[in-house]
Amino acid sequence: MDRYAVIGNPIAHSKSPWIHTAFARQTGQALRYEALLGPLDGFAASVHAFRTAGGRGMNVTVPFKLEAYALANRRTPRAEAAGAVNTLAFDPAGILGDNTDGAGLVRDLSANLGCAPAGRRILLLGAGGATRGALLPLLDSRPAALIIANRTVSKARALAGLFAVHAAGVALDACGFDELAGERFDLVINATAASLAGELPPLPPGLYAEGALAYDMMYGRGDTPFMRAARADGAVRVADGLGMLVEQAAESFTLWRGLRPDSAPVLAALRRLIDAS
Ligand code: NDP
Repeated sequence: MDRYAVIGNPIAHSKSPWIHTAFARQTGQALRYEALLGPLDGFAASVHAFRTAGGRGMNVTVPFKLEAYALANRRTPRAEAAGAVNTLAFDPAGILGDNTDGAGLVRDLSANLGCAPAGRRILLLGAGGATRGALLPLLDSRPAALIIANRTVSKARALAGLFAVHAAGVALDACGFDELAGERFDLVINATAASLAGELPPLPPGLYAEGALAYDMMYGRGDTPFMRAARADGAVRVADGLGMLVEQAAESFTLWRGLRPDSAPVLAALRRLIDAS
């Protein structure tokens, strides 16, 4: 049976084994997917040991995505742009590194939430790894405008500069939270780590255009402060990042197995499981 794994530290909370096992069952693929706790000083050794033992591929999560980028001897363009790798595929030519997070976000927006980025004004909050992973797939889906806003403005400006080459036809800009006063957006994505600490980026009121979607990449803990504040500020549609998690997994599965699972029933079942726990 082909073996796959997700490696991270910590890892016990990971939903990836559940998601990939559901995909395998649905598509009739014979594979086993497990969770591996990677030692903080032993990521590369753990990957090599898993590969030597017959592993075919791995997902990589916090804190190893940069080490995975360095370990891969070939990388997809979206992994190059992200500067981080969340998916490894082992083959005779070595280790291919991919990043499926941004594609998972765009697919969740488009296929599950009816909010394809094309033509929309998008506000992307944060300038860390999640933002960087999302930028190329978001720009490729041709929004009208994409503004990156971050607490440390210089990091947002650096990302806007780095991705300007991919932004033909998209008004790409960067600013601080206070400079957003008076602006309105069709889609606001929270890619800051604020929700993890139960905090809220200090946003001015009035950000949401009619019918706007507020999207928090965080998932698994019910409504976040960002989601509650967005509703109070007039966002009619609010979503967490569970769909992004399932869709990035579907992208990885497709890369490894050459066929795309039907993610919608798996997302619905995972949502029920989390709501019941
Ligand atoms: P990073 O640590 O790389 O980035 C942190 C970012 O959050 C920085 O821009 C930082 O600003 C900002 N930030 C942190 N605290 C606050 C605060 N209190 N107020 C305002 N801004 C703040 O984190 P990641 O990019 O890796 O992750 C961000 C989020 O995305 C997490 O919640 C993570 O769980 C989620 N995520 C979800 C995925 C999914 O599949 N759904 C996939 C990947 C990530 P500054 O630069 O000023 O420090």
